[in-house]
Amino acid sequence: MSEEKKHNEEDVELVMDTTKMNAEQISSMEVAESARETEWTKPSFASKLFMGDFDTSFLYPFPEQSAEEKKIGDDFLVKLEKVLKMIDPEEVDRTGELPEEYRTALFEVGAFGMKVPKEYGGLGFTQVNYNRAAQLIASYDGATATLISAHQSIGVPNPLKMFGTPEQKKKYFPRLATRSISAFALTEPDVGSDPSKMTTTAEPIEDGEYFLINGIKLWCTNGPVAELIVVMTQTKPKIVRGRERKQITAFIVEVKKDGEYLEGVECLYRCDFMGLRGIYNGLMKFTNVKVHKSDILWAEGRGLALALRTLNAGRLTLPAASAGLAKQCLYMCTKWGKEREQWGRPIGEHEEGRQKLAYIASMTFALDAVTKSTSHWTDQGEADLRIEAAMAKLFSTEVAWKVIDTTMQFRGGRGYERADSLRARGEDVFPVERAMRDCRINMILEGSSEIMKLFLAREAMDPHIRIAGPMMKASSTFSDKMGAVGKILGFYSTWLPKQYIAPLFVGGHSNMGPLARHYKFVDKASHKLARSFIYYMAMYQDKLEKKQMILGRLVDIGTELFVMSVTCAYAKSMMDKDRSNKEPYKLANHFCELARTRVNGYFKSLSCNHDELSNKMADSVIAGNLEWLEEGIIKAGLADKKPLGTE
Ligand SMILES: Cc1cc2nc3c(=O)[nH]c(=O)nc-3n(C[C@H](O)[C@H](O)[C@H](O)COP(=O)(O)OP(=O)(O)OC[C@H]3O[C@@H](n4cnc5c(N)ncnc54)[C@H](O)[C@@H]3O)c2cc1C
Repeated sequence: MSEEKKHNEEDVELVMDTTKMNAEQISSMEVAESARETEWTKPSFASKLFMGDFDTSFLYPFPEQSAEEKKIGDDFLVKLEKVLKMIDPEEVDRTGELPEEYRTALFEVGAFGMKVPKEYGGLGFTQVNYNRAAQLIASYDGATATLISAHQSIGVPNPLKMFGTPEQKKKYFPRLATRSISAFALTEPDVGSDPSKMTTTAEPIEDGEYFLINGIKLWCTNGPVAELIVVMTQTKPKIVRGRERKQITAFIVEVKKDGEYLEGVECLYRCDFMGLRGIYNGLMKFTNVKVHKSDILWAEGRGLALALRTLNAGRLTLPAASAGLAKQCLYMCTKWGKEREQWGRPIGEHEEGRQKLAYIASMTFALDAVTKSTSHWTDQGEADLRIEAAMAKLFSTEVAWKVIDTTMQFRGGRGYERADSLRARGEDVFPVERAMRDCRINMILEGSSEIMKLFLAREAMDPHIRIAGPMMKASSTFSDKMGAVGKILGFYSTWLPKQYIAPLFVGGHSNMGPLARHYKFVDKASHKLARSFIYYMAMYQDKLEKKQMILGRLVDIGTELFVMSVTCAYAKSMMDKDRSNKEPYKLANHFCELARTRVNGYFKSLSCNHDELSNKMADSVIAGNLEWLEEGIIKAGLADKKPLGTE
C-alpha cells in the first residue's frame, strides 16, 4: 500500500462529538487525526491486550543480544564511559555549560553517530546498543544525555533515516555523525501539545523551487548549538470537503556554518530551566530563511505525521534513561540503607526503609524489562510498536519520578543537599537533588503523560471505531448506522461473549512456573479491560473522548498489564539460565503484586470515583469564584512586556 493511501488525509473523519466544538477545536482534531498512522500492517502485542487477547507468543523467548552485537555495545560503552568521566556533571549543572571540548570528545568517540548508518560514517547501532548508551549517559548526567538524545532520537538523524531520500542521506548523514549537532523544532509559544495552531510558515518562491521560512520556535533543545534543525512549518492549506485543512511540512534547515548563524536565523534567548541546566535550549527565530525544496523531509503536508513518527521512535530512549536513573537510585539507596544508622539500626532495616528499597528495586527491574523488550522489538522490526512506545514512555517517566522522590526521602537531608556541597563536606557525592530536577521534564516533553493517555485511548479504541464508528457518532445518518449494523453483528456476536466466557477458562501458563499466577491475572484482566472499553464506548458514545479520567484509567490498566507481561517474561528468561538464582522471580513477583493492587484500584475507580465532583470544583475555579482563597499572599509576577519575538 502506498504511503499516499496509508495516510490519506481526505479520508479523515472525526469519530468524536463535534456538535459542541468551535471551529478551532474541530481544526485541532482534524489536524491530529489526519497525521495518525491509520494502518496496522504489523501485529501489536498491546493492541491485542486491549482487545482481550493476551498473545504470549510475543513474549517468548525474551529477546537477547547476540554475542557479536553485545561485544559491539560493550566495547563502545568502555570508550564512552572514559569520555563521560572527563565531564563533571555538577560543574555542568552549576555553570550551565557543557564546554565544546567535551562535545568534540563525544563526536570523536562516535556518540553523535550511533543512529547514523555505517555507510555514512556512523556507528549504525541497533536500538538495543543505542539505548544501552543512553542508559549509561543518563545515569551520569541528564544534560549530556539530552544533548545526545535531542540530536539523534528526535533531531535530524531519526527522521532522515525514516523518510530521507538517498540524496538527503548522502548530504547530511556524514556531517551529523562527525561534526554537526542537530535539533527538532515543533513547539511554538502557542503550539504545545496541539500543533494545529502552528504559525511558522514556509512560503514557496521562484516557482516553488525554494521556500521562505518565517516564525518562532520555542524550547528548541540543542537549537543554540545546532547546525541543522528539522523545522515544522505551515505550508499552503488544502481544501478538503470544502474546508481548509492545514498542511504541516518538515524541512531540514541549515542554521549555522563555521559557528555563524546563516542569514535570517537567530537565537533570541537561551532558555533556563529547573533542571537540565547544561542543555542548550533556545527560542529560535526564522526570518525569510531560504530553503530549497529538496530539503523537505518526506513530502509537503506530511510534517506532522513525520513529527509523530519521529517522536514515536524517539520516545523509546526515555525508558532507557529512566532505567539508568533508577539503577543509580538503587545503588545509592542500597549503600545508604546499610551505612546510615538511626535509632540503633541501619535505616534500610526499619520497615519504612525496607519498603522503599523493595519498591526501588522492583521498579528498576520493570524499567529494565520495558527498555530491553521495546528496544529488541524495534530491532526485530516485526511488530507495530506505536502503543508499546507510548506505554513505555508514560510508565517509565512516571515511575522514574516516583523512584527519585522515594530516593530523596530515603536520603533525608542529604537528598536535598547539592552534590557539590556534599563533596565539599567530604561525603559521598550522590546527586539526588540534581537528578530530581533533571528528570521531572520527562513527564512533559515528547508527549506529556496526559497526551500519551489520549493517544493510547485513541489507538486502543481504533478496532472498535473501525467497526462501530457510525453507531457512536451523533451526526451519522440513518443509512450510515444501518450500514454498520452488519459489521457490528458479525464481529461482536462472537467477540463479546468470548470476553465473558474466556476468563472462566484461562489457561495455566504453566511454563511461567511460579509467575504463572500473574500471567493468569493479566489474561483475565485483559478480557475485563476489553469489556470495560466496550461498556464505556456504548455508554458515552462519541462523548467518551471528553471522559479523560475514564479513558486514563483504562489505558493505565493496559499499561500495567503490558509492563507485568514483559517483566515476568524477562524474569523467566533469567531464571531459565540460572535456576538457582531466585532474585529475578522475587523482583517480578513483587512488581506484579503491587501492579495488581493498582490495576484492581483502577477497575474499581472506573465506577466509583469523584470525577464529577472535581469537574464542578474546577468550574468554580475557572469561573473565578475562588479568588478569595488566594488572599494573603504576594502574587507571582505577571508579564510586564510582550513576549520576545512578538514585539
Ligand atoms: C526542557 C524542554 C525541552 C524541550 N525540547 C523541545 C524540543 O527539542 N523541540 C520541541 O519542539 N519542543 C521541545 N519542548 C517542548 C515540549 O515538547 C512541550 O513542553 C510539550 O509538548 C508540552 O507543551 P506545552 O509545554 O506547551 O504544554 P501545553 O500543551 O500547553 O499543556 C499544558 C498542560 O496541559 C495538558 N494538556 C494539553 N492538552 C491537553 C488535552 N487535550 N487534554 C488534557 N490535558 C492536556 C498537558 O499535558 C500539560 O499538562 C521542550 C520543553 C522543555 C521544557
